[in-house]
Amino acid sequence: MKWMARDVWRLKEFPAPSINVYIAGDVLIDAGRRWDRRRIFAELEGREISMLALTHAHPDHQGVAKDVCEARGIPLACHADDVEAMEGRRPMQEAAPGNPYNRAIRRIWQGPPHKVERALSDGDEVAGFRVVHAPGHARGEVVFFRDSDRVAICGDVIRNMSYATALPGIKEPPEIFTYDPSENRRSIHKLADLNPSLILPGHGPAVTDMAAFERFVAALPG
Ligand SMILES: [Zn+2]
Repeated sequence: MKWMARDVWRLKEFPAPSINVYIAGDVLIDAGRRWDRRRIFAELEGREISMLALTHAHPDHQGVAKDVCEARGIPLACHADDVEAMEGRRPMQEAAPGNPYNRAIRRIWQGPPHKVERALSDGDEVAGFRVVHAPGHARGEVVFFRDSDRVAICGDVIRNMSYATALPGIKEPPEIFTYDPSENRRSIHKLADLNPSLILPGHGPAVTDMAAFERFVAALPG
């Protein structure tokens, strides 16, 4: 795994970071797609993990959640507004569920439902990070933000990757995966207002050029 910041690592992925899974202290942050099971289990080998916390309950972030929680006997945490989605009581994809990409993602990436033992809310603490509710892409989307060094693990509030070319680039999440793009834009401003020094997104490499991030935010449509 790759060191990102104090007590924060990203699980390795070949050839480039595209479906990101982080470890903060002894908390696993996100759980990839169902088919990331082997990669995640191999990287966790010999490592103490006390909890799995999701940035949001979407199929590319909760795929291995049930497996890893059961294998390690650890609790699952996500924001209160995504508990129903994670537990299978409402559809996980609220944006364009009939879209063929979304149908395929649901079939091949989405992991089984699993009980959420810790429902997170704004201001809670996870591994030294503060929970900041940032809905729009998912109802229960959160940013994990560490005030001491302003590191932000931001889920899919932004991405640093083009899905067309796989090259890095700061972008909004695609609309077909985002139930309320204008709400997500407000969450991007919320992220910017935290004045992060490093952004660790759900997709693509770390955002280290904060001037580029500020330009991206300034250019967002009203
Ligand atoms: Zn995602």
